[in-house]
Amino acid sequence: MKKTVLLHSCCAPCSAAILEWMLANDWEPVLFYYNPNIFPQPEYEVRKNELSAYAARFGLRVIDGDWDHSGWREAVRGLEQEPERGARCLACFRYRLLEAARVAHEQGIPVLTTTLASSRWKRLDQVSEAGRWAVSHYPDVEFWDRNWRKGGLQERRGALLRENHFYNQLYCGCEFSMSALQERRARQSEQAREDEAAARSRIAEASGR
Ligand code: SF4
Repeated sequence: MKKTVLLHSCCAPCSAAILEWMLANDWEPVLFYYNPNIFPQPEYEVRKNELSAYAARFGLRVIDGDWDHSGWREAVRGLEQEPERGARCLACFRYRLLEAARVAHEQGIPVLTTTLASSRWKRLDQVSEAGRWAVSHYPDVEFWDRNWRKGGLQERRGALLRENHFYNQLYCGCEFSMSALQERRARQSEQAREDEAAARSRIAEASGR
């Protein structure tokens, strides 16, 4: 008999290899899309629609959580300036996984896990801490604390990403990670301008001008 698990899913690229593994290993995943951290809303919709379309190919159920971005902002208040992988991310994981644990409880699904544990950009210890903390509020739900990068899943993730031409996400999700990306890009273009100026000056020197 198949075992049911609530898979908190952040997006299709992070979910595909996990779903493939679960379906091949007698698990029946129910997906829960709850990512009110994602900003702006059109970015949220793109990620959600891609996940829903991918799940539909396998006939999987997706529970659609709300885009409660103001509630999420409240949860990370005071942590806005934290770097990625810092305290804001732990609060972000807690906020999303607490709601996932509540939904698992409400739906009578005894096991919860998350695709957040599949991204090498996220701290696994924070995901694990947040997941364990979330289920401590619902004793009938167990957190499946698994590293979803291991067992060849990281490589399979990359292969499925290429195969499915998934949407290319350029930042983690929130407005703070988006700003960090813009700052990185600005620094890179500044560096490129400086490198070009230095190269032009060397060429001019070499040609005696
Ligand atoms: S960087 Fe990512 S994990 Fe961290 S707070 Fe923003 S959306 Fe959440």
